[in-house]
Parts: sequence; structure tokens; C-alpha cells
Amino acid sequence: MSELVIEGLRAAVEGQEILTGVDLVVRSGEVHAVMGPNGSGKSTLSHVLAGRPGYEVLGGSVRLDGLELLTLPAWQRAEAGLFLAMQYPTEVPGVALRDLLRASVRASDEADEIESRMRIEAGRIGFDERFLERPLNVDLSGGEKKRNETLQMGVLRPKFAILDELDSGLDVDALRMVSRRVEEATVEDDLGVLAITHYSQLFEQLRPDVVHVFAAGRIQESGGAELATELESTGYERWVESATPAAATRPDDPFADPLA
Ligand code: ADP
Ligand code: MG
Repeated sequence: MSELVIEGLRAAVEGQEILTGVDLVVRSGEVHAVMGPNGSGKSTLSHVLAGRPGYEVLGGSVRLDGLELLTLPAWQRAEAGLFLAMQYPTEVPGVALRDLLRASVRASDEADEIESRMRIEAGRIGFDERFLERPLNVDLSGGEKKRNETLQMGVLRPKFAILDELDSGLDVDALRMVSRRVEEATVEDDLGVLAITHYSQLFEQLRPDVVHVFAAGRIQESGGAELATELESTGYERWVESATPAAATRPDDPFADPLA
């Protein structure tokens, strides 16, 4: 049984506080949904947890089984068992998915079975094995990138996975396979999941234990699975009005991704 404990997490980007005090505990096997308006800081949370450079941590702690992650570089957080499926996966020309995964487990006792694991995982999400040879995320469609991330998660078997809009860009069949694969990981490997999404469809296969409303850089309210469908129809007005979102104070960005 593992535990990811986030306490009072505050972080800034370019001098602007985006995360304003995140408190959250995810245990092995649990699925936590995070839903909230655009620009509320959901992806920032995922990046700060994973250790992406460019964010200033202003306070709080993130512990994985007692180990403080905030002082570790990204690769050591991954080694500790944290996995991030990015909202916008990075294109890495010249590095095939197969090379990446081989390098990731090179030093571990899992290196021998990596080839068969890659093939098995591709099959489980209906992903053509030729994607193993392609340069990472280069010229892949949105949905292919998301399956790429899911395959990595399946092969690497982390303790905790942060899935930032894993459902975006997936067609209904791919969504079903991918969300089922994650659900199975919660059972087979006791994976703990933090799933950021705008759509309750993700939760038809992946059953959330808790749904959190995330607005203005923190969790505003938490509830059961039914909250996901409620939010999808009612929106977030209630929380946006009562909070002071950092994003609202910024000038309008005409190039902002409306789905971000
Ligand atoms: P969400 O994922 O909830 O839509 P994000 O975490 O991506 O929101 O963004 C939260 C706020 O932080 C937004 O106002 C966004 O413009 C801002 N932001 C995020 N990353 C950067 C960055 N690298 N530089 C400047 N502003 C940023
Ligand atoms: Mg986002």
C-alpha cells in the first residue's frame, strides 16, 4: 500500500501564483478525478508534481510513501513510482518509443521482459506495434499520442499515474480501451490514479472513488462519482464566482487553446 500525500502545495509561473494550496491524498488502487475550468491550474499541478522545470514552488509538500518529491529531479520522481501522461506530449525526434522504454528500465531487473511487455501493452490498447519504432510523438495524431502515453504507463508500472486529459483526442473505441487499461492497472498493479478531465465519459470504464472540483488553483470541493456527471452539465460557475482565479486577472490570450 502506497500513499501520495500533497499538502498545502503552492506554486507560481513567471511570478504569478497558480497553485494556491492543494491538499490531496491518493492511495494505491484509488482513482481520483480532477475536474475544473480552463486555466484553473490543473496542468500546472501535474507539471509541479512531476518536476517539470520552470515552476517556482512557494510552499507545501508532496510525499510518496514519506519521500519528499519536491526536492528531487523529474527522473528520480519517476524512479520513486510517479508517472505523468502529459496533456500535450512532447515530440522527441530521433528517439523511438522502444528506445525510450528500454532506457527507462535498463538498470532494473525488468529489462529482460521489456520487449514482450511492450508488445502485450500495445495489444491491450489496440495500438499498432509499428508505433514502437516511430520517433516519440512526432507527427502522431492527438489520439495516437494518448495511446503512446498509456502504453508507457502499462510498461513502466508506476505506483501513481497523473493522467492529464488522457481522453482528449481519442475516438470512442480508443477511449474505452485506454480507460479500461488504466482501470485494470488499478486492480492488477494497485495503481493510484489522478485523472484530470473535462468529460465523465472517461469514467465509464475507469471508476473514480472521489471527484474533486479544481478551481483557482486548489481543490474547492470533493464528492462521489455522481459529481462528475453533475459538473459536466452544470459547469463550474459556482466555484469560479466565489474564487479569484489567477487566470481571470490575466489579459485575454487570443491564441489560448480553448480546450486547454
Ligand atoms: P488548466 O490545465 O487547468 O487548463 P494550466 O495549469 O495549464 O490550466 O494553466 C493555469 C494558468 O497558468 C493559466 O492562466 C496559464 O496561462 C498559466 N500558465 C501555465 N503555464 C505557464 C507558463 N509556462 N507561462 C506563463 N503562464 C503559464
Ligand atoms: Mg490543462
